Amino acid sequence: MAAGSSGICKVRKNEGGRLVLPFAGRVSSVAVDPIEKKPLYHFKPGSAALSIGFVGCNLRCPFCQNWGISQGVDAPTEPLDPGECAALARHARSASVAYTYSEPAVHAEWVIEAMASVRAAGLSNVLVTNGCVLPPASTELLARCDAVNVDLKSWDADFYRRELGGELEAVKAFIAEAFGAGVHVEATTLVLPGANDSDDEIDAMAAFLASLSPDIPYHLSAYRPMHRWTKPATSPDSVVRLAAVARRRLRHVYAGNLASERNDDPCPACGAVLARRAGYSVDSSGLAKGPDGEARCAACGERVAYRL
Ligand code: SF4
Repeated sequence: MAAGSSGICKVRKNEGGRLVLPFAGRVSSVAVDPIEKKPLYHFKPGSAALSIGFVGCNLRCPFCQNWGISQGVDAPTEPLDPGECAALARHARSASVAYTYSEPAVHAEWVIEAMASVRAAGLSNVLVTNGCVLPPASTELLARCDAVNVDLKSWDADFYRRELGGELEAVKAFIAEAFGAGVHVEATTLVLPGANDSDDEIDAMAAFLASLSPDIPYHLSAYRPMHRWTKPATSPDSVVRLAAVARRRLRHVYAGNLASERNDDPCPACGAVLARRAGYSVDSSGLAKGPDGEARCAACGERVAYRL
């Protein structure tokens, strides 16, 4: 990074040979969301997450749905002490704090500090990330994290590099590191017509996730024209068809951004509905906590892939 210039993320700057973080401790958004909106469907279903957003990102996705805060640093920001997150979350009756909206990892120092205090207060940490995060930052973040949703945007390394400015191998490594660290992992692919929506590509991404565990929840979300990407929106039929492709590998595949999809989840053992979903609302009365604290089907007692 040349003297006086900023990195791609725009939040790290070389000032006279010194690395400075002009937006350290400044947040663009604080809101309370259903955890399903992250999206996390198998982590504390039905709970609220205090969601914190920043400015800046290390990628430049032309279809970014939050480009107003990710692709520049002009959005209004306010200071927030990382030690305040837990109290804000408790006040908002949130079970977790989610670092989300733009790319939280470019503010890793602040997020790591916030995560430590949130953990100490007995609440959970959720990271919503593009996964282009390398060690040691990934390791430091994941050590304090309870759940992640990682974007797996394409299975084409050239597309990642050329269109997004990212590295597929880094994303795969981050997902594998998170899973290996015992963090609850869900993955999301925004289905882009003509770019990543072939059966083979979705099958390859599902196969990668299944190689870690067939129980990793996988969200296929319909894209809408946004930012610099003007292609028509993903058709609901396409998302539903691709979800069926992914279900050949994975047990929990969800079609997102579709008003028509209910995304109920049946127990793999007895077929009783574990979680009934409509939009972001969920009835999880089909789930019960066993004596060991593990999630179980309320009907048959089978252990199921949820963290309650
Ligand atoms: S990684 Fe996410 S926040 Fe960053 S540009 Fe891409 S879609 Fe936007």
